[in-house]
Amino acid sequence: MNRNYAIMHNVSLRDYNTLKINCRAQKMLFPYNEEGIKEVINDFKGKNSNIVVIGKGANILFSKEFYGEDYLFINLKLMDQINYCNERVICGAGATLSQLSWYTLENNIKGFEFLEDIPGTVGGAIIMNAGTYEDNISQLIKKIKYYDIDKDVIIEETVSIDDFNRRKSKWTDINAIVIAAEFVVKKGDYLESLDELLEIKKRRYLKQPRNYPNAGSVFKRPLVDGKEWMVWKLINDSGLRGIKKNGAMISEKHTGFIINTGDATYDDIFNLISRIIDTVYKNFGVILELEWRII
Ligand SMILES: Cc1cc2nc3c(=O)[nH]c(=O)nc-3n(C[C@H](O)[C@H](O)[C@H](O)COP(=O)(O)OP(=O)(O)OC[C@H]3O[C@@H](n4cnc5c(N)ncnc54)[C@H](O)[C@@H]3O)c2cc1C
Repeated sequence: MNRNYAIMHNVSLRDYNTLKINCRAQKMLFPYNEEGIKEVINDFKGKNSNIVVIGKGANILFSKEFYGEDYLFINLKLMDQINYCNERVICGAGATLSQLSWYTLENNIKGFEFLEDIPGTVGGAIIMNAGTYEDNISQLIKKIKYYDIDKDVIIEETVSIDDFNRRKSKWTDINAIVIAAEFVVKKGDYLESLDELLEIKKRRYLKQPRNYPNAGSVFKRPLVDGKEWMVWKLINDSGLRGIKKNGAMISEKHTGFIINTGDATYDDIFNLISRIIDTVYKNFGVILELEWRII
C-alpha cells in the first residue's frame, strides 16, 4: 500500500533550527497531505512518543544532542500549497510566512506585509500567534483546520479573537497539528503593499542581528501591573550587552536576541538565559518569561 508520507532517518536538526545548534533525530516524517498526518500518528505514535511538529525551528531551542526512538518529529514542508479562489485564501501549514506574504501581495491582497520578514511557517505562526508590536497573524485568520491527536479527527473551525493571546493560541495548549488556515481577503494595491513590506523588512534588518543565527526575541514582553517593559532595555540596563558564553552571545546590536557566533551549544545558550533572568529580576524585580520552546 502506498504511504502518504516520506521518512528520513538519522536527520541532522541543524537545518531545522535557526539558532543552528547541532543535534540529530532518529527520524523525521514528512506527510504529503492530511491523510499522511493521520497515518504518521497511527503508524508511529508509541505510548511514550513525544510528538514534535517542527516548522522552520525559528522559535525553538533544542536541548538534546540526540532525539531517539521516543521522539516523533513531523515536518509539514510538503504541505505548503496556497490557493486563492472565490475570494478565499487557503494556505497549507507548511508554507512559510514569506511565501504567504508575497503570494497575497502578488494577488493585490493587503494586510500580510508584516509577516514577510518573520521567519517561520504558517503552522508555527498560528501556534505562536506570531506578529509585530502592532499586528499579529490572528487578525488575518478566518478558519483553521487541525488534527486533534487525542481524538484522531480532523477539525475545521471558525476562529474567534479569544482563541489567541500574546505569542500563544488555543492550539498551543492542546495536542493538535495545524494543517491549514483560511485568511481574510482585503483588496489592496500591489505597489503600496510592496513599499510597506520592504520598509518593514529594512527597519527590522537595521535593528536585528540578522548576520548571525538566532531565534528572534528570547523573552516575551513582560506586563507588570499594567506596565509594559521593553526586554532589550531591561537586559541592556543590567549591563549584559555583548556578554558571551563560549559561542553564545547576547547581541550587541539588539540585547533582546541571543546569537550563535559559531559553535554555541544548548548549555551555552541556557547559561545566558539563566543569567539574564536572574540579573533582570535582581535589578528590576521583573520576571522574564521565555518566548522560545525548549525541546
Ligand atoms: C530573526 C528572527 C526574527 C523573528 N521575529 C519575530 C517577530 O517579529 N514576531 C514573532 O512573533 N516571532 C518572531 N520570530 C520567532 C519566529 O519567527 C516565530 O515564532 C514563528 O512563528 C516560528 O515559526 P516556525 O514555523 O519556525 O515554528 P517552530 O519554531 O518550528 O515551532 C514553534 C512551535 O510551534 C509548533 N508547531 C510548528 N508548526 C506546527 C503545526 N503545523 N502544528 C502544530 N504545532 C506546530 C512547534 O512544535 C513549536 O512548539 C523571529 C525569529 C527570528 C529567527
